[in-house]
This record gives sequence, structure tokens and C-alpha cells, in this order.
Amino acid sequence: MSANIPLPVNEPVLHYAPGSPERAALQAAIKELGSVVTDIPVVVNGREYREGKTVRVTSPQKHGHHLATTHLASTELLNEAIRGAVTAQKAWENWSFADRAAVFLKAADLLAGPWRQRINAATLLGQGKTPHQAEIDSACELIDFLRFNVHFAEKILAEQPISSPGVWNRMDYRPLEGFVYAITPFNFTAIGGNLPTAPAIFGNVVLWKPSTTAMLSNWLFFQLLREAGLPPGVIQFIPGNSTIVSETLIGSPHLAGIHFTGSTGVFRQLWTGVAANLPKYRSYPRIVGETGGKDFILAHPSADSDALVTAMIRGSFEYQGQKCSAASRAYVPRSLWPKVEAGLKEEMAKIKQGDPADFSVYVGAVIDERAFTKLEQVLVAAKADKRCRIVAGGGADRRVGWFIEPTVIETTDPHHQVMTVEFFGPILGVYVYDDAKWDEVLQLVDTATDYALTGAVFAQDRAAVASAAQALRHAAGNFYVNDKPTGAVVGQQPFGGARASGTNDKAGSILNLYRWVSPRVIKETGAPPAHWSYPYLG
Ligand code: NAD
Repeated sequence: MSANIPLPVNEPVLHYAPGSPERAALQAAIKELGSVVTDIPVVVNGREYREGKTVRVTSPQKHGHHLATTHLASTELLNEAIRGAVTAQKAWENWSFADRAAVFLKAADLLAGPWRQRINAATLLGQGKTPHQAEIDSACELIDFLRFNVHFAEKILAEQPISSPGVWNRMDYRPLEGFVYAITPFNFTAIGGNLPTAPAIFGNVVLWKPSTTAMLSNWLFFQLLREAGLPPGVIQFIPGNSTIVSETLIGSPHLAGIHFTGSTGVFRQLWTGVAANLPKYRSYPRIVGETGGKDFILAHPSADSDALVTAMIRGSFEYQGQKCSAASRAYVPRSLWPKVEAGLKEEMAKIKQGDPADFSVYVGAVIDERAFTKLEQVLVAAKADKRCRIVAGGGADRRVGWFIEPTVIETTDPHHQVMTVEFFGPILGVYVYDDAKWDEVLQLVDTATDYALTGAVFAQDRAAVASAAQALRHAAGNFYVNDKPTGAVVGQQPFGGARASGTNDKAGSILNLYRWVSPRVIKETGAPPAHWSYPYLG
């Protein structure tokens, strides 16, 4: 029986304008969640464990604000989580698709309704997002992932082979045999929710290791899943020390897949670990990883400079540049640069940085001390470097929160680290090129970094757009024309990149869902032949 999943539409973005009910609800939720210290357990087989080591979760914009205490999973508990998940899979994979889908559709409705502002508040307090950035992430994108993934799964189930007279062929879309290890980053609550749930829709079981710095929102989402009817053991919530968790899970013969989003270095370590353990596994684990980026904005001399300045500011500095898709290198023609530079200075002077609980703030703090220290060092080095000039920003202030000022650095060296290394903060490198060297700059954009995640070209001249699209075909998995390279929407711009940016399995599309099934083909013959001979033998 078809599950007849309702056709999804993207969740409308609420605006939080003064006087709106959503603004009041979010403010109340921030107050409530910010006035308690949430105690976050490990959850295995539906049971909450509060034992062993703990870590403090603090707010990036007020590092003295203790938001939560997280309990970490021990090796014994991790092994119990593996056993429990493998056991839970037997029942879960035999649930009808409609029943499994109902859990995730209900989760989407709970998030769109009663849970929306609590999870947005957790994302604002714990991960430092403004109301708008929290809304498009922890509400809209996560709701979209839940609804669209169920819809994509239904489409896959409907894809069936042809049959011939007397023969009936069917495709049985089995889950992977064993557990999927989901490892999620700090920067999107939506990714935290998507990586464990996407495989689970097909009857997979998942061990989910959330990021410490996204723990509060991720814990709330896990509780929401339980309220939506997710049975115990299907997704095990296992905050823990990454080395201990990875060694235990990757060392298990039951590892069936990895669903990762995070930095390139960590993903390579995970893959190396899988390769080293390969003979142990029952099946070859599916490895899906979306990783780092050094995303570009390339302006042609024909570009509209106002649109370009807007894209540079929004694309580089929203959420403090901590989006994998954030623009962090720009190539601007000499003829356009004076106007663009003046525009950047003028507009960036208007940006307010601070605590996003103050709704007039556009840029908050970076996630933690480690990020702050790294970014501060980049600024110090650039100030001392003759090849660099600070065009705007350049400040860092650690007194209350981890504040790095939105910064534009012009460099004369197109291979300088500001043009090649992912810093993951509000720092944009700019290289000014000679207008006549369009072909050379295309080559430069393509080859300057190992990454290939997102990129944007700004041009009014159609021939320039076409030449960039062709020359940069492999330089970005998400390519934008006259738009900023951030803000991909589920179902509209499936997301991911290749080269060092990941396996490009496109979260928010049917392509990602294919990775979580292991099809079995069933051929059934109505009246099987009763003799082995063939006519030609006659
Ligand atoms: P990270 O790699 O530091 O951490 C990601 C997750 O991996 C966290 O849960 C972390 O605890 C865990 N981890 C760290 N070391 C580990 C280990 N040895 N074994 C197992 N797990 C380990 O990344 P982050 O700082 O949370 O996120 C930022 C990075 O993620 C950036 O590089 C960004 O570009 C990337 N990112 C990519 C995408 C994408 O779709 N391509 C999306 C979001 C973020």
C-alpha cells in the first residue's frame, strides 16, 4: 500500500519583526532556556545515563554563561549502544514505511509548531545565531529535511524493475545491515538533525555523536524525536569524546555506514580508520561526508557592484562566516575595486556585532576559544604581512564572548593563506586582478585551493557567465550566478561539493537517500520450467 506522503513544500521563514508573535515567543524561550543549566544525558536504548565524565556547554557570546552540562559516553556504554541498536533494527526495519514515515512527519510538525522557538532559542544561545539565522537553520531547514527526505524515500521505494511474462520482479529496499555512525558539526542544528534521521527513514539504526558546541539544540531535537514516537534504540544519542567514540564504533564489525559533516581533516581520519578495519566488517561501510570549503565570489568587470557588495557581506559574514558555504575569497577586477572597496567600508560600518539576544545584532561571536584563537592569529599575521592590507575590520575581543570583527583583507598574493585556507570565521580575502586577465583568473579560482564546495560568479555579460560556468565546472558543487554562495534550500539547491569538500552526496536530495539502502532484487517465476533442455539442442 502506498504511504501517499503529502507533497512537501518549503517551510515559510518567519520574520521576527517588532510586534510579531514569533518575536515575543522567541524572546520568552531565550529567557527560559538561558536561566537554567540543562543536564544532558547519554541515551541508549531509551534509557538516560548520567555517569562518568562531563563537559560544560557555554554560550559563544557570553563564555561565562553555563548553558548545559553534558555527560559523556564510556566505552562500555558505547558497546551497549551498538548491541542495542543492532537488536532494535530487527523490529524497526519491519515497521511499514508509512509507520516509520509518520514518526518523521510528526517530528516536522512538532518542530514547525510547539518546539520551534525552544530549538531556535537553543541555537541562538548555544551556537550564537541571530534570530534569522536560527530560523532558517533549526526551524525551516530541519523541517524541510524531515518532510522532503520522507518524500524522496517514497519515490525510491516506488522505483521498481520491469517484469516479463510469467516473471514478477521486485526491488526490496533493505536498510544497511548494522548501524550507521552519524557525526554532526556545530554549525547547523539542521545538519545535526538530518544526519541521524535520513538513514533511519529506511529502517537503519543510527548512533549519533553530536558536537559538544551544538549540544543544547541537538539534545532538544532528540527529545522531540522521542515525542514524535521514535522507538528506543533506533537512534542512540551518544555525546562523547570523539577519539573514544570513533575508535569504538569504527572498530565494530557492525559498522554499516558513516554519515559525517565537519572538517576535511576529521573526515580523512575516519575514512583511514575504516580502511584499516576493513577485513572486520560484515559489509563494506557506506561513507558519506560533507566537509570543508574555501568558497569563492568571482566578479567580472561587468558585475553590478551593489549586488556584489551585498553578496560579499551576506555571504561572508552572516553567522560569523561559520557556514561551510561562506564566501572567504573574492576576486575583483581592478576597474571595479575602488567602488566595491568604498561600498564594503560604508556598509560594514553599519553592521552591529554583539549578543544575538539583542535583535538589532547582525553578527555574533565565533563558536569557541579554539576558533577565536585561530582567527585572531590570522588577523595578527595579516597585519604584519606586507602582502596584506586590512580593508575593513581586523579586531578581536575575547572579554565577554568570542568576538572576531568582520574583516576584509586585500592581498597581492593570490596564493596567500587568506585565499587558500579555510579559517571558518568572518574573514574575507580579496585578490584584485587585471581586467584583461579573465581567463587567468578563472584558472586561478579553479586551482588555488583543494576544495570545491560553493562559488559564485557576478557578471552582467552573459558570455562571461558562460565561460565561468564552464571553466569552474569542477570548482564548486553549488554554483551561483549573481547570488551569494550561501543559503541552499532543501529540495531547491541540493547541497554538497567534491574534491576535498566531500563525497558530494547532496544533502536535501534523493541522491543522499540512495546511500542508505541496500536493495535486494526478488525474481519470482509463476510456472517454472520442468525440463532443463533447450530447443536448439533438438
Ligand atoms: P569538526 O570536524 O571539528 O567536527 C565535526 C564533528 O566531528 C563534531 O561532532 C566533532 O566532535 C567530531 N570529531 C572531531 N574529531 C573527531 C574524530 N577524531 N573522530 C570522530 N569525530 C570527531 O567540524 P566543526 O568545527 O564542527 O564544523 C566545521 C567544519 O564543518 C568546517 O570545515 C565546515 O566547512 C564543515 N561543514 C561542511 C558542511 C558541508 O555540507 N560540506 C556543512 C557544515 C559544516
